[in-house]
Amino acid sequence: MVKAVVGANWGDEGKGKITDMLAKEADIIVRFQGGANAGHTIVNDYGKFALHSLPSGVFYNHTTSIIGNGVALNIPVLFKEIQSIVDRNVPMPKILVSDRAQMVMSYHILFDQCEEERLGKNSFGSTKSGIAPFYSDKYAKIGFQVSELFDEELLKEKVERVCETKNVILEHLYHKPALKPEDLLEELHSYRDMVAPYVCDTSAYLYEAIKAGKNILLEGQLGSLKDPDHGIYPMVTSSSTLAAYGAIGAGIPPYEIKKIITVCKAYSSAVGAGAFVSEIFGDEADELRRRGGDGGEFGATTGRPRRMGWFDIVASKYGCRIQGTTDVAFTVLDVLGYLDEIPVCVAYDIDGEITTDFPTTAKLEKAKPVIEKLPGWKCDIRGIKKYEDLPENCRKYIEFVEKKIGFPITMVSNGPGRDDIIYR
Ligand code: GDP
Repeated sequence: MVKAVVGANWGDEGKGKITDMLAKEADIIVRFQGGANAGHTIVNDYGKFALHSLPSGVFYNHTTSIIGNGVALNIPVLFKEIQSIVDRNVPMPKILVSDRAQMVMSYHILFDQCEEERLGKNSFGSTKSGIAPFYSDKYAKIGFQVSELFDEELLKEKVERVCETKNVILEHLYHKPALKPEDLLEELHSYRDMVAPYVCDTSAYLYEAIKAGKNILLEGQLGSLKDPDHGIYPMVTSSSTLAAYGAIGAGIPPYEIKKIITVCKAYSSAVGAGAFVSEIFGDEADELRRRGGDGGEFGATTGRPRRMGWFDIVASKYGCRIQGTTDVAFTVLDVLGYLDEIPVCVAYDIDGEITTDFPTTAKLEKAKPVIEKLPGWKCDIRGIKKYEDLPENCRKYIEFVEKKIGFPITMVSNGPGRDDIIYR
């Protein structure tokens, strides 16, 4: 059976923890989109890890981790990450890399940096990992696919062609030194030597695995609201963050995805620019940021403080719908235990009109939050294993959210660890 684990919000919902937890029962975990721009934080028996490229199933002996064709593959980052977990006594994971995945090149990172610099105060808040230039090149058909690493003639011709177009922009728009084809060729050779032992037709591998009844997890990066089509365009990421894209980014039939577990955080946080209706500021935000996640809400890749806000019903209802949610995993609920009252954004006020439908970006920019306050539970809920044992106000909060978003919350996460989970 294939399950997808995806985000309902702006990312950082706790997908890594849920994937790591579900991976116990899984045979294969697949990354199907995104790259090293976002991170998953995982706490388990080996310690605390921030993963960027590796699927969150690498900590088990019994799983195979796949880098799917939809991923922006940064080979040096991937191998550094493998080394960093092996150095901390995690057994060498079984990894397969799709022969159809494309690679992030050093110039993608350079272009990302140059463009953000050029945009100045209008920048996207990119992590400068080269993701937008990478996907632009993929769709402009000048990207490098892993399979091409093994065709020397093709590489030689292509590096010349790529330098020609890249150098016009580098020299005239960014005023930077030109790329040299021989340097790119060398870079590609080094990638080839690193990745060669792991390359295979992962789509065919997954086809056989599905036929054999294996349990497969598709692990999404970021969340619905960062999807280029359905999110807060243009303040989005450059690959689809939706479970539906899991079929494409892993190379499996869409009808095989039987469960879509949408991870939804009990409050909001966001990184990067863009409208964020339920955002809070000042001391109120500082306190939630400090208490949030596991050791504070700071970016796993950049260490930047995340923007904070109250739970947003409008955004989460939409985020769950657009994912095709079968199950909601409601996470980081334990963090809210300090509040007397918990504000929730239940609707948007757009030019005096009250709505619970998530609008397109121009309208979203004008939306003001309609806030309702629920009573807090004022205690620590970590360690609780049964739903009935949660404080009444805590259950009321969960049930309020569930009713408003309209999708079943079947898992409640009350701590960062693998076992901090309550099934309903
Ligand atoms: P991801 O990108 O969706 O995997 O999310 P991140 O890893 O960036 O953010 C989730 C953060 O919250 C991490 O630091 C997790 O260890 C932590 N976390 C996950 N679930 C819970 C939870 O239920 N309670 C608490 N306190 N922390 C959690």
